Amino acid sequence: MAESALRRLTVLGATGSIGRSTLDVVARHPDRFEVFALSAFRQHEILLAQCLQFAPRYAVLGDAAAAEELARALRTAGSRTEVLCGEAALEEVAAAEQVEMVMAAIVGAAGLRPTLAAARAGKKVLLANKEALVLSGQLFMDAVKAGGATLLPIDSEHNAIFQALPPNYARSPAAAGVRRVLLTASGGPFRTAPLESLAEVTPEQACAHPNWVMGRKISVDSATMMNKGLEVIEAHWLFGASADIIEVVVHPQSVIHSMVDYADGSVIAQLGNPDMRTPIAHAMAWPARIDAGVRPLDLFEIARLDFERPDFARFPCLRLAFEALRAGGAAPAVLNAANEEAVAAFLERRIGFLDIPAVIAACLERSGSLAVDSLDAVIAADARARDWARAEISQRTVRR
Ligand code: NAD
Ligand code: MG
Repeated sequence: MAESALRRLTVLGATGSIGRSTLDVVARHPDRFEVFALSAFRQHEILLAQCLQFAPRYAVLGDAAAAEELARALRTAGSRTEVLCGEAALEEVAAAEQVEMVMAAIVGAAGLRPTLAAARAGKKVLLANKEALVLSGQLFMDAVKAGGATLLPIDSEHNAIFQALPPNYARSPAAAGVRRVLLTASGGPFRTAPLESLAEVTPEQACAHPNWVMGRKISVDSATMMNKGLEVIEAHWLFGASADIIEVVVHPQSVIHSMVDYADGSVIAQLGNPDMRTPIAHAMAWPARIDAGVRPLDLFEIARLDFERPDFARFPCLRLAFEALRAGGAAPAVLNAANEEAVAAFLERRIGFLDIPAVIAACLERSGSLAVDSLDAVIAADARARDWARAEISQRTVRR
């Protein structure tokens, strides 16, 4: 391939689970992709190894001390990668003129500003960071449109739906003859655990997902099924689907990644081994197809596919997410912020597993008072909801 065909990429959140899988795909195709910038919060040692392997122009860290460490180590190694630090630098490497694609794989609301910057600059945005979309769905989709960006979903379910929809789908299910969007869910590690055991669940148990290896926050979200709740909201914004036509289907094998049900009775599914390199490679090469390093699906080994209805009593977070989507306004932003705070507190053993939905429900009751009509308002709503959540969490911590 000629050198001009190299596609330049910024990876936000390069040291995380999605970031590392992205670089694995890049390494398989040095003739197609070139890394422009890599970012991490404070994991400078992993970022150093990545910089030495991929020689990006920039490396961005969130933490100043980590940035100094990285700069020193890169100088010693004779590397020409320049180290930057802070939020503004993240926005710069996401919007830089030389960049064609941005992998948005920072976890949580921290990914909002740089992901928005990439959208406004008209990049091909590979969206893993579902929280940004939940927090500011309307603003984000408006930015994509105004900037002329191309939005490609990385979340495996949404990537599957994207693949099952017609080309040039214009966010109107009715116009495309879509009857339902069927989001599959593994059900996480506690799908069949005795209900009375859930109060005593530990962070280690919650992070031990049966099918996927992921970062800690999304692993807890999978255990509460808030991950699926966030994905319902994500599907709403990405595909213009109302809560009424989005259905969650528990499918413990995680082989079907999601489906679209059409008016003529056809159901189109995307299948594959549970390996995030498939949706990552799909989005990176789209509309072409490239090797992702994923082993072929062996249907004989899988032998059967099971489906169940989601249990809203066992997974109240899923119910709360549907309620937040239906309520609209600031409710999804509050849901997301309260969840991030509650999950962090659970991982630090300050609250129990069942406190997570209780904290979120208490915050959602107050969400009617908040506006989300501008980026500043969204950020203020997020901050307000975190204050409410922290107050709830400290009360529960005392009682523990
Ligand atoms: P992770 O925790 O493994 O990695 C997160 C990355 O973000 C790291 O590089 C970290 O350094 C960076 N980061 C964290 N906080 C930051 C901050 N405040 N400022 C700047 N950078 C920060 O997470 P992950 O599992 O890779 O998930 C990343 C995103 O992708 C999440 O939004 C998640 O919901 C989504 N996602 C992940 C998977 C998966 O299989 N892991 C699947 C679908 C969607
Ligand atoms: Mg997913």
